[in-house]
Amino acid sequence: MSSARITFYGAAGEVTGSSYLIETGGSKVLVDCGMYQGADADWRNSAPFAFRPSDIDAVVLTHAHIDHSGRVPLLVKGGFKGGIWATDPTIDLAAVLLRDTAKLMAEEAEWRTRKNSRKGLPPVKPAYAERDVEETIGRFKYIGYDDQVGIAPGVTLRFRDAGHIIGAAMVELWLAGEDSGRPVKIVFSGDTGPRDSVVGRPPSIIEEADYVVIESTYGDRSHRSLEETRQEFRRELGGAIETRGKILIPTFVVDRAQRVLYEILRLQRSDGFPRTPPIYFDSPMGERATKIYEKYTPLLSREMQEYVRVGQNPFSPDGLKYTSGVEESRAINGMDHAIVLAGSGMCNGGRILHHLKHNLWSKNCSVFFVGYQARGTLGRRLVDGDKHVRIAGEDIAVGARLHTLGGFSAHADRGDLLAWAGSFRQGAVFFVTHGEPRSSEALASGIRNLGFRAAVPSLGTSYDVDRRDGVVLSSEGEPARRDAADRAAVMELLREISSEAESLRESISEWSDPSAAVPLLESTRLILRSARNMKQ
Ligand SMILES: [Zn+2]
Ligand SMILES: [Zn+2]
Repeated sequence: MSSARITFYGAAGEVTGSSYLIETGGSKVLVDCGMYQGADADWRNSAPFAFRPSDIDAVVLTHAHIDHSGRVPLLVKGGFKGGIWATDPTIDLAAVLLRDTAKLMAEEAEWRTRKNSRKGLPPVKPAYAERDVEETIGRFKYIGYDDQVGIAPGVTLRFRDAGHIIGAAMVELWLAGEDSGRPVKIVFSGDTGPRDSVVGRPPSIIEEADYVVIESTYGDRSHRSLEETRQEFRRELGGAIETRGKILIPTFVVDRAQRVLYEILRLQRSDGFPRTPPIYFDSPMGERATKIYEKYTPLLSREMQEYVRVGQNPFSPDGLKYTSGVEESRAINGMDHAIVLAGSGMCNGGRILHHLKHNLWSKNCSVFFVGYQARGTLGRRLVDGDKHVRIAGEDIAVGARLHTLGGFSAHADRGDLLAWAGSFRQGAVFFVTHGEPRSSEALASGIRNLGFRAAVPSLGTSYDVDRRDGVVLSSEGEPARRDAADRAAVMELLREISSEAESLRESISEWSDPSAAVPLLESTRLILRSARNMKQ
């Protein structure tokens, strides 16, 4: 085998922005091309790629979540002409999520352009437009679980069920060498579900691999058991229903919401649970997502199959109504006693804001947090116990009862991940990604304790992946090649320079003597121009 290498362009040292480039002698394949979330996300999401999109032969998508798929339209806009390989449900879900993302970006750009024009600043353009999403959807190529297909010269792909959200896949890639020896095999865990998965099938066990890229979202933590989580939900939701007030459930509208609907249905079918009020799923996108779950029932878990077998819809508890229009959504305000599910899951946007604004003050209101609340979001401030929050420009006192249920995760915990890793034959080399540094390091040391080699790649680093047996990392955790890392460092500097320029621009009206800055800024421009001339 000549040379093959992998470069970690995202989800390295963080959870979001998944993107891994595999290069062989003749092919370039990108596994995932996701958006970043959190601080600096806007800049990072619209920044140019560190490679030429037109050089990529194929894209493989592990699943539809935006932090794995959200930058594919930017790749297409940049000249990528190949196929995007995904499972059927992933293609359906990605179409819903990417169209929604383009719409939100267009709205945001329009709003910022209006704001800018009042200050005499240039208009803001979204990273990509709806037409780029439509072209992306046209490039999707379906492949079923467990089928094997050649996707680029010398590169063969197979998807295995990852048990995370519907359609989510682990990726097996075989890279053929120039000699006739056996190909090198790389496995990507994608986002992995828990072993006792509720909505989907359990994650597949894979034994053969030369290299394994494994996620580590919960690499240092264990979830509460399924049984405990269910008892807790029963007790707390039951209690909230008895108070006959408004029950708000902020939730991601893909997967988590369907899980919550199913858990409510289970409670309705169980003995002694109080009668539930009307349930509103206040999300047009949520309704489209549920339809996709209903379409692929053979991919659901065994316990859900039991409902399907007797002709019941596991995602349709008694009294469920979807609200699509804004008027219908507003009408929920008039209901004293109701359960309302709405996005976003971390309360940093979406229709849940309007329900929180109208109900959070009331002692009769209960809020159930069923997912992770990132730092800096309204959801996190509430969970952390803030007594006053600002919603849509208004100061709201928090009178509602808040409940946090940590056990509904669609991610494997530390025990699940180590059990999955432990199924590989000895000699496999692990790259630990998709986690905060602390969880990735904790998982890597757990994997080393199982007798494997494991590295935690940093952003932009490359490793050779062309050894079939007795693989040795050039130096554990050290990049084999520097050029990609250098490129990432340049990108980071340019990002800082742009944000400095941006904040200067925003404060220009407050400067007492703008002329003093002119010579400084002129030299800066000169230096940047010389840097541009160093391009070649
Ligand atoms: Zn995911
Ligand atoms: Zn993910």
